Amino acid sequence: MPELPEVESLRRILAASATGRSFIAAIVREPRLRRAVTPDFAASIIGRTIETVGRRAKYLMIELGGGDLLMVHLGMSGSLTHRRAGRDNEPFDPRHDHLEFTLDDGSRLVYNDPRRFGLIKLVARADLAAIAELRGLGPEPFAAEFCTDYLWRVTRGRRGAIKNLLMDQRIVAGVGNIYASEILFRARVRPTRRAGKVTRAELARIAAITPAVLHEAIGSGGTTFRSYRDGRGQPGRYAPRLLVYDREGQPCRECATPIRAVTVGQRSSFYCPHCQK
Ligand SMILES: [Zn+2]
Repeated sequence: MPELPEVESLRRILAASATGRSFIAAIVREPRLRRAVTPDFAASIIGRTIETVGRRAKYLMIELGGGDLLMVHLGMSGSLTHRRAGRDNEPFDPRHDHLEFTLDDGSRLVYNDPRRFGLIKLVARADLAAIAELRGLGPEPFAAEFCTDYLWRVTRGRRGAIKNLLMDQRIVAGVGNIYASEILFRARVRPTRRAGKVTRAELARIAAITPAVLHEAIGSGGTTFRSYRDGRGQPGRYAPRLLVYDREGQPCRECATPIRAVTVGQRSSFYCPHCQK
């Protein structure tokens, strides 16, 4: 599932390649995503210009001329690729190209999503504060607000596992299963630890390491596990650098102890029993 680094990598590519372009055509082949694409969607996007490509949590927020935003969430398996005529055509899977937009330079933005858990909708900028998906989201991990004091405040008295807390979008936006495991390994905290018992020194490590890990992953174009593709249709390159995620039984890269897997909140979690306390 795409997490913050994958969406941010996509955002950067689209910001460079699609800003200033206008939509001249839109085709909705399959409206049944996590929420159905509205019947008037295609007509209402034609003629709009892409002003900026932003991001909040795992949502791509494409600001359009006329005061609306195009919100895109990739769900479990979505991708949004910017394809130019005669290029980049081979690796794509046209069966799941559910929405296709033509831009005024002849290029196409294509939303592909085999599992159809994604979301695409047009939102008036004035209504943004009332959007259910965005309400209650915690701070971005790069925000100054996400600090040791903040983690201390939100973890005290919490009986749940620290890994679940890191993946809770109300606590911090954009961290999912892959990066939560990686962050906790680097912070030397086991994913199963009760959040309320994690020490202040450990929380300080988590606060510092979280943005660092995400920055590194963004620099590698994110992680591709099964299906993620960036805005050019390329997989992310971070997977070979993962220290614990999906490495059960393989030697820890620091101490050679076999990495263990444990289920936390119905998700597979990976840790080194020697390095993490
Ligand atoms: Zn180790």
